[in-house]
Amino acid sequence: MKTKEERLEELDRILMDNNLGFIYDFLGERDNGLVLPFFARYMDGVIKKGLEFCVTTDRNATAGILYKHNLVFISYGLFDRLCKLSLLIYSSGVLDGKEKPFNFVNLHLVENPFQGFSDEADNFGDKSEVQLLLFIFDSLLGFIVAHEIGHFINKHGDRLDFSGDVRGHKHIERDELIPSHARELVADHYAFRALEFDIENTISSDNPVVSNLLDKFKSQRGMALLSLLFIACYFKLMDGHSPYPHFESTHPEAGVRAHFLFACYLEPYMDTNQQNYMSEVLPLTVSMLQEIYEYKGDDFVIDWSEKNSSEEIKQWYLEVYSELHKWSA
Ligand SMILES: [Zn+2]
Repeated sequence: MKTKEERLEELDRILMDNNLGFIYDFLGERDNGLVLPFFARYMDGVIKKGLEFCVTTDRNATAGILYKHNLVFISYGLFDRLCKLSLLIYSSGVLDGKEKPFNFVNLHLVENPFQGFSDEADNFGDKSEVQLLLFIFDSLLGFIVAHEIGHFINKHGDRLDFSGDVRGHKHIERDELIPSHARELVADHYAFRALEFDIENTISSDNPVVSNLLDKFKSQRGMALLSLLFIACYFKLMDGHSPYPHFESTHPEAGVRAHFLFACYLEPYMDTNQQNYMSEVLPLTVSMLQEIYEYKGDDFVIDWSEKNSSEEIKQWYLEVYSELHKWSA
């Protein structure tokens, strides 16, 4: 049996061999007050699936799974961005109708870290408001970790001869593009269902966070809206931050991933009398997404539906759809 220190050294070596930085040192590094509690929580979750979980020191936004080592990792850089994104969603008032001040102009600026829960920070408003912020954060992080678990559950590593999804967005040759994108969409779908399930559980239970949410989020449709909104906010955060364009990257671009999940969400309602009502979720998600990012002063138009209607992307959809079943366990 290895000691904890020996295992940490081993993990450090594995990360270093893959150019992923080092294990994040909770006590030595600047702690924002959230890394440790959430690390402990997700460690428990992934161990149940037969995986290990670690936070790396990398300041870029990375997350992935090292198949050979059954190791899911998330970088401190991504963790910090998610903290700020959670605060933005929370402060915008879109979820609870109450706007609060928000001071991070650039969510990607790790040099100006979120430290809202560190020992020195002023505390947030009342307890239920803190719970709302943590609920948002947990939903975002939960989606990202579940995406990596989705690769594992669907046995993507067993069928590949590379060591895995390591650097997130890598360059890829055209002939490997469709299988790679199909794997990403299968993992996204798994993570979307997992998030939807968690949100439904939270809202249908007596969780105190529910009292903060506007009533429109408490219906069946509202819960789906909430799940899609969180995911869309994350995709928007990463939109334009992939080093390669859609047709040269291991991962489909953000707008396309969002569009695919919208389609997955809507599928069970197609050709039913709920179709029109449920499909209103899509424009609602996009307008709330817009509202959230505008709250920090962004001026932009989300062109996702335009992107998804190009001939090139339509052809891509046909190819990728016929590939999906190969990567679903
Ligand atoms: Zn992936």
